[in-house]
Amino acid sequence: MAAAANHSAPSGAANTAPVTIGVLALQGDYQAHARAFSTLGAHTLLVRNAAELTAVDGLVIPGGESTTMLKFLEQNGFFDALAKFVFTTPCFATCAGAILLAREVKHPAQRSLGAFDATVERNAYGRQIDSTILTLPTELPGGPLEMVFIRSPRIVRVGEKGQVLARRDGFPTLVRQGHLLVATFHPELTSDTRVQQLFLSIVRDNKSH
Ligand code: GLN
Repeated sequence: MAAAANHSAPSGAANTAPVTIGVLALQGDYQAHARAFSTLGAHTLLVRNAAELTAVDGLVIPGGESTTMLKFLEQNGFFDALAKFVFTTPCFATCAGAILLAREVKHPAQRSLGAFDATVERNAYGRQIDSTILTLPTELPGGPLEMVFIRSPRIVRVGEKGQVLARRDGFPTLVRQGHLLVATFHPELTSDTRVQQLFLSIVRDNKSH
């Protein structure tokens, strides 16, 4: 979008085009996401209101506490602006972000943005194993990926446009649905940046079309 066009470009190639990655910064793990994308050479912008959405090519919706983020979103028309944005602009949603982006939320039900055609159960792994680190197979180039789960939700249904890239106990943990990338774990907490690189390629493709 408009703001990114002003950045100095390292080259004209589509796969290295400069992009601005917004990180929703209302609550939660947004700084770690911003650091990861900065390391990969993207310009990053912390997004705290609807106007700032117009300056980004893609948006990270981080982990944290989805109910708290909802409370902030429901101020000043931000929820409605974001609900439009996520249907057309690349979004990378992790953990609480996955809950916010889903079409249906259970356990308990709560309001959501609806662009990710899936049903997501909050805190589905219970208290005893609510936080764990697992290395699991993925469809990403390079194979298995270390995944940090923190009071993780569980994706119990994915729509037919969802491409499952990894699973835990049979349930999807990483899903691409067109311009959306959703993880129930925290890729920003490990040094492996393959998930972020996939999101950057989604953002660049979207921008060049
Ligand atoms: N359990 C949190 C929620 O329901 C999500 C946890 C996380 O983002 N790490 O919002």
